[in-house]
Amino acid sequence: MLNVSGIAASAGIAIAKAFILEHPDYSVEKRQINDVDAEIAKLDSALGKSRAELEAIKERTLQELGEKKAEIFASHLLILDDPELIDPVKSKIADEMVNAEFALNETASQFISMFENMKSAYLQERAADMRDVTKRVLNHLLGIDFMSPAEISEEVIVLAEDLTPSDTAQLNRQYVKGFATNIGGRTSHSAIMARSLEIPAVVGTKDILSQAKQGDLIIVDGLDGHVLVNPTDDVVAEYRAKQEQYDAQRAEWRKLRDEPTVTVDNVHVELAANIGTPNDVTGVLENGGEAVGLYRTEFLYMGRDKLPSEDIQYNAYKAVLEKMEGKPVVVRTLDIGGDKELPYLDLPKEMNPFLGFRAVRLCLDRLDIFRTQLRALLRASVHGNLRVMFPMIATLGEFREAKAVLLEEKEKLVAEGVAVSDSIQLGIMVEIPSTAVMADQFAKEVDFFSIGTNDLIQYTMAADRMNERVSYLYQPYNPAILRLVKMVIDAAHREGKWVGMCGEMAGDETAIPLLLGLGLDEFSMSATSILPARSQITKLSRADMQELAAKALEMQTAEQVVELVQSIQA
Ligand code: PEP
Ligand code: MG
Repeated sequence: MLNVSGIAASAGIAIAKAFILEHPDYSVEKRQINDVDAEIAKLDSALGKSRAELEAIKERTLQELGEKKAEIFASHLLILDDPELIDPVKSKIADEMVNAEFALNETASQFISMFENMKSAYLQERAADMRDVTKRVLNHLLGIDFMSPAEISEEVIVLAEDLTPSDTAQLNRQYVKGFATNIGGRTSHSAIMARSLEIPAVVGTKDILSQAKQGDLIIVDGLDGHVLVNPTDDVVAEYRAKQEQYDAQRAEWRKLRDEPTVTVDNVHVELAANIGTPNDVTGVLENGGEAVGLYRTEFLYMGRDKLPSEDIQYNAYKAVLEKMEGKPVVVRTLDIGGDKELPYLDLPKEMNPFLGFRAVRLCLDRLDIFRTQLRALLRASVHGNLRVMFPMIATLGEFREAKAVLLEEKEKLVAEGVAVSDSIQLGIMVEIPSTAVMADQFAKEVDFFSIGTNDLIQYTMAADRMNERVSYLYQPYNPAILRLVKMVIDAAHREGKWVGMCGEMAGDETAIPLLLGLGLDEFSMSATSILPARSQITKLSRADMQELAAKALEMQTAEQVVELVQSIQA
């Protein structure tokens, strides 16, 4: 048995066989060919093999998951047999004397971008289907042996270098019991996605891929951050018991779903959730979330070949607002950069991407992108309780500029006769130390702050949040961080504004008593952390936590702060 440690990224225990996920290279080169018939025969053979595969997957999905889930593969079969796609591919091979994979890739790309530009959400989804089908046929043309995560049909633990948002979106929760990755930290985006999917996960193991092979028995311990490879029967039994205990604890927490979050001395705080896609809202409501405190819209921009249109965005924002039925929804404008890339923007590689051209910096430069998003948001605002928030604000000038663009777009829409809500709150993320220090000035101009500790900690401590080697410096409980948080909260309250926190610290058991004492109004976290947080807060007194926080602010080290908090938890 091997025991590989990593970072506990999503709570729970999972036991199943390993499924190694590695991404093939789908880049295709253009080649001139001599024998058109042979090339077309090669294409026909790849289409035939893809058809046989899809028939089998469709049948199995129908048996195991029902008609609805099988429909997707039925529509893939239709695409595969569609003469509107296949005929132009064959003509291209014949007319231009080019290889089949090139002809297919070029033709399919044209259809994909056409579908993506359609207004109807149905046709937009067809773009994703077309992309999947193209990859399947390319597997055969290029001789790639690849099974996509969507095809997994037995219980597995996915092991990967890292998982992209589109990988995680394809994971079927019925079969994928957990995952473990080589890279990443608690605040990397694969970890965040794992929590929203409620799949136990361990990230940053450095070498799980070289330690395990396809089919090995794996235990993912997302509570303590371990991955066990080929455990003995005794260890499996021990972990099954741990799994049962955790499930029982969760059942207890579930009873608090519809309860308010009130301290023993009657102070109400709001527990909100962080989401990445409209589908995550179901988990928010199931876990008793009172609001969405952070909607990371960048996931809408990822996993596709080009920028999402205004309508694609409008549909997504409207869906979230409607599902939340009037509860507040804080939507963050595009925060790309750092560990989130958009290949189609073709931005130059940077030496320090976390300190580079990202988030609002990019939006204020690429106003076309920014204006499209703001228009979509403003149009959606009438469907619920929308709050808009700008990420990575470093100066008042940036905030004012971004706000001016928003107001311009609002005016234009109103002039066009489009309805826009008049009560949209406008706030900023406080995740850059300069902004925390200047919070008193910002507080005069914004409606709210949301403290982004994932970045605030990395910038204050100068410790890359993705780099395991400096993770010892990633210290949420360092008095330096607590003092900055206090400055921000006090500054906002002096101006009668509210303050939330949407960094991972907001859902952290050790941080919660301190944040409560510092006066935080809204805690926004992974949906699965909400009920444990509610259970914890309802047992605490705000007055006592104020005393605790005051002591913590005077301590010298993060370790002392942890000891202090543990002394009240014992
Ligand atoms: C943060 O920085 O705390 C935050 C919530 O944003 P992200 O993790 O998306 O950078
Ligand atoms: Mg951030």
